[in-house]
Amino acid sequence: MKNCDTLIIGGGAPGLALAIHLAKDGLNLIVADAGAPPAPLSKTPLDSRTVALMGGSIGIIEETGIWPTLKKCANPLSRMAVVDDSRYPAGSDQMVEQAFSASELGRTEFGWNVPLAQLRAALFEAAKKQKNIAFFWNDAFQSAQEKTGGITIHLARTKNISARLLIGTDGRNSPVREAAGIKATRRPYGQKAITCIFKHSRPHEDTSVEFHRTGGPFTFVPMPDKHCSVVWVEKSEDADAFLRLPKQAFTKALEDRTRGRLGKIELVTPPSAWPLEYLRAERLTAPRIALAAEAAHVISPIGAQGLNLSLRDIKTLAEIISSAHANGLDIGSHTTLAAYERARKGDVLTRSLTIDLANQAVASDTPALRVMRRLTLRALSLPGPWRQLVMKKGLAA
Ligand SMILES: Cc1cc2nc3c(=O)[nH]c(=O)nc-3n(C[C@H](O)[C@H](O)[C@H](O)COP(=O)(O)OP(=O)(O)OC[C@H]3O[C@@H](n4cnc5c(N)ncnc54)[C@H](O)[C@@H]3O)c2cc1C
Repeated sequence: MKNCDTLIIGGGAPGLALAIHLAKDGLNLIVADAGAPPAPLSKTPLDSRTVALMGGSIGIIEETGIWPTLKKCANPLSRMAVVDDSRYPAGSDQMVEQAFSASELGRTEFGWNVPLAQLRAALFEAAKKQKNIAFFWNDAFQSAQEKTGGITIHLARTKNISARLLIGTDGRNSPVREAAGIKATRRPYGQKAITCIFKHSRPHEDTSVEFHRTGGPFTFVPMPDKHCSVVWVEKSEDADAFLRLPKQAFTKALEDRTRGRLGKIELVTPPSAWPLEYLRAERLTAPRIALAAEAAHVISPIGAQGLNLSLRDIKTLAEIISSAHANGLDIGSHTTLAAYERARKGDVLTRSLTIDLANQAVASDTPALRVMRRLTLRALSLPGPWRQLVMKKGLAA
């Protein structure tokens, strides 16, 4: 029988960040994942995905010690623009635009755009340096049984692991959530997000632009050296059709949707498409079990909030567990888990519902909603508390 304080199922970015935080606070951990370990950072090629990490998330990443390395492949987000482009492909005179600058909040940037594969690789390199973390890769979670004072977990290859707490950061289809008997509200959006990275001829000026169009938002996000990543949401069948286009025709469609702001475009990574859905677990905890990140909530990429929300789960969970550990209390007790549930359920609920509403409002083509969207954007041009509040909510500051 193997023993640890905490077993984390799921070695994605949130699971690894949590492991580092807990290991630094002296807990003994196992991280298990059904997949292979990430390659070393120096050998990790760019894939099609980046994540915009806002204010507080960078602080959480900084505490893992990887930020000086990761910053080299990240780009600051100094300006963010939202454009109502619902008349696309009609003339550009139909657009309503609102731009926000980090300097309005007295900051140099709202956050940073970070390549996801590099983030995960850097976190794994940092986690490997912690002597109190053991890794079981290619070893899928199978079942768990609560017992007095702990929980016994069976993986596909490693049986009978004994822990005081089991944490599921095992993604949207979370087998840990299922084993815990936690139900989830789940609704596919019938949309996919096309992602890729491209080079362009005009400077992006550290500005991310989110175009709101029927079908879904189209967002380009700045990367170093005149590169951008894109999150381009379409109805699923339309996204699949774009992916089937020859490279030249796909590049032309992409360039069209940037409304010429970035000049000539050249693909750097092939495009891929990600099905979008709304998912929210009814609870974040069960006896001796906690859920975090996409195991607990999946939201649309509009507003770039998903991983930011997950990292707030990680910070709270790490603080509550470490404090229980430091005080000699049971880290998997009902009291500890109830504190996590209480601390996170409000943020998860409000953020999930707000993003769900925003996604539906942007994709809708009813005339009344279109007028509302345009009026809201125009109202945001007024200086004052309303505008500041919107910027701070985006930052979760
Ligand atoms: C197109 C797109 C753009 C996005 N952009 C942003 C953005 O700009 N900003 C932002 O904050 N967020 C963004 N997000 C959200 C963010 O990318 C995700 O929330 C995040 O990557 C999910 O991480 P995760 O670890 O929860 O899940 P996953 O990455 O799915 O990781 C789950 C892990 O669990 C493992 N696992 C699964 N089953 C088992 C099992 N049985 N046993 C063991 N291990 C298992 C998997 O192998 C995997 O490693 C975006 C999402 C999409 C789709």
